[in-house]
Amino acid sequence: MPARRVVLITGGSRGIGAAVAQLAAGRGYDVAITYRSEHEAAEQVLAACRSAGARAVACRGDVAVEADVVRLFDEAEAALGPISHVVNNAGITGKSGKLAQTSAETIRACIDINVLGALWVAREASRRLPQSPGDGARTIVNISSVAASLGSPNEYVWYAASKGAIDSLTIGMAKELAPEGIRVNAVSPGMTKTEIHERSTQDAGRLERLRPHIPLGRIGEPGEVAEAVLFLMSEAASYITGANIPVSGGR
Ligand code: NDP
Repeated sequence: MPARRVVLITGGSRGIGAAVAQLAAGRGYDVAITYRSEHEAAEQVLAACRSAGARAVACRGDVAVEADVVRLFDEAEAALGPISHVVNNAGITGKSGKLAQTSAETIRACIDINVLGALWVAREASRRLPQSPGDGARTIVNISSVAASLGSPNEYVWYAASKGAIDSLTIGMAKELAPEGIRVNAVSPGMTKTEIHERSTQDAGRLERLRPHIPLGRIGEPGEVAEAVLFLMSEAASYITGANIPVSGGR
C-alpha cells in the first residue's frame, strides 16, 4: 500500500490555512494544522477535515518559538506518521500605519512570526522531509504576498519586507533541496477575505477602497489561494520548483 500523504499547515485554524487544510483533506491528504491561540477555530477545521475522510490533528504552538516548532512537527508525526508536505502559512501584519509612526513592538512581532517563524518551520521541514517516503511528491509551499513587490506604502512596509524575505527563502530552499527531490515554491496572495484585515485595522472600508485597484474587480476567497497551493503540492507540478504564483486578481 502506498504511504499516506501528510501535510502540515502552520496557521491552519483560520483563513487561508484553514482553506488549504480542508481542500487537502478532500483530496486525500492527512492533515496536521497548527495554531497559536484559538482552539475552537482549530476544532472546527479538524471536524471539516475528518468529515472529508482525512485523519486530522491540531497542534498548538507559536511558530516564532524555535522549540515550539520542533514540538509541532514531533506531535504531528506522532499522530499521522512522516510529514511529506509543509505549508508555511502562519503570519500577521500588525496594526497598519506609516513606518515612521510604527512601534518597535509591532515591527518585531511581525518579523518574529513572518520571518523567524517561517525560517524555523522551513529548517524543520528541510530536516524531516528528506526522511519521508511520502507518495513520491514532497513539497514545501511558503505563503508570501504580493506586498513583497508592491511595498505596501503607508500601510505595512515592514510586513512587505517580511514577505520579501519569504521570496528569497523560497529561491534558496528550492535550490538547496532539489537534489533531495523536494520541491519548494511560494504562493503570493493579493487581497483575500480573511480576518487578518480586521485584526490589523479599524478601517472597515479599506477593502472596498482597494477593490478598484484589483484588475479582476473583487477581493479573493481563501479557497482560491488554496487551489494554487494544492496544485504546487501535486504531481501535476512535478517540474516546478522555486516558483512564486500570484493569486491576486491581477494586482
Ligand atoms: P488569518 O489571520 O486569517 O490567520 C492566521 C493564522 O495564523 C491563524 O491560524 C493564526 O492562529 C496563525 N498564527 C498567527 N500567528 C501565529 C504564530 N505566532 N504561531 C502560530 N500560528 C500563528 O490570516 P490569513 O489566512 O489571511 O493569512 C495567512 C497567510 O497569508 C499569512 O502569511 C499572510 O501574511 C498571508 N497573506 C494574506 C493575505 C490576505 O489578504 N488575507 C494577502 C497576502 C498574504 P491563531 O489565531 O491561533 O493565532
